Amino acid sequence: MEKSERIWLDGRLVAWDEAQVHVLTHSLHYGLAVFEGIRCYECHDGRSAIFRLREHVDRLYGSAHVLDLPIPYSAEQIAAACLEVVRANDLRECYIRPIVYRGYDSLGVNPLPCPVDTAIMVWEWGAYFTKEAIEEGLDVKISTWARNAPNTTPAMAKSVANYANAQLIKMEAIADGYAEGIALDTYGNLSEGSGQNIFIVRDGIIHTPPVGNSVLWGITRDSVMTIAREMGFEVREQTLPRETLYIADEVFFVGTAVEVTPIRSVDRVKVGRGRRGPVTEAIQQRFFQIVKGEAPDTHGWLQAVNAPAAATSGTAKGR
Ligand code: PMP
Repeated sequence: MEKSERIWLDGRLVAWDEAQVHVLTHSLHYGLAVFEGIRCYECHDGRSAIFRLREHVDRLYGSAHVLDLPIPYSAEQIAAACLEVVRANDLRECYIRPIVYRGYDSLGVNPLPCPVDTAIMVWEWGAYFTKEAIEEGLDVKISTWARNAPNTTPAMAKSVANYANAQLIKMEAIADGYAEGIALDTYGNLSEGSGQNIFIVRDGIIHTPPVGNSVLWGITRDSVMTIAREMGFEVREQTLPRETLYIADEVFFVGTAVEVTPIRSVDRVKVGRGRRGPVTEAIQQRFFQIVKGEAPDTHGWLQAVNAPAAATSGTAKGR
């Protein structure tokens, strides 16, 4: 990855190479930490804007609340720090990664004696897969690894612990010659990709698994459902058996990193005509118009980098 200049570390901007943690950092051993992935886009007028900053910061607080991780800053401070670090690095387009973790004190499993540390880093990150994948679609497989079961590690929290499972899914897919893996939940129903939510289109109706099927409550998922409904599509959140993938007209992934990426085959079975379908393409187009400021920002989703941070909704604030 390309280094940026500065990282926000517990309230200070430090040089990229100086943003170090101790090997006794509690989260490094036991995996209790929460993070976000946010994109900043260069808009058509040359200004930069962060997409749904408020919702990402709120989700960070929600994840931390589930894991009893008291973030020692207000949501406004974290939002302002995200803007500050983008500006400090003078990046027009970037990916923003806040992380909150338990630092160095003791190594009993109990994390509570350890300090809660926070870092925010930004770097340039283009297409998650390839540029071609955005148009041509991905070849993916159903993973032999299931998503975390309910009452194990909470799927709705964006916690680092969940990404051990995500990495198993991803590594297996790569080893087997696929771009990505799709996980089922422990009951065998469709859940999500290693780091993306999934949608299927059948007879013009758009479906996605509900949060009860061990999925992250994705912000792109919410954006896509909103956009699709505004475009006149019926969108259903419903439990989907695995085989819906094989008989779907279209399947696509969504997420901050992957944006909207079509899937052209699952387990070597062609999806629809084996290339990006018209519904996926229409939603993709609309999504990119919105994030790049080419369509009116009717929902207030764009936070200009050179304007003050909007107040967060307060749903999870201050916990
Ligand atoms: N599911 C998982 C497991 C993820 O890691 C991500 C990426 N954050 C998503 C879904 C998509 O979420 P979002 O659209 O909020 O980035």
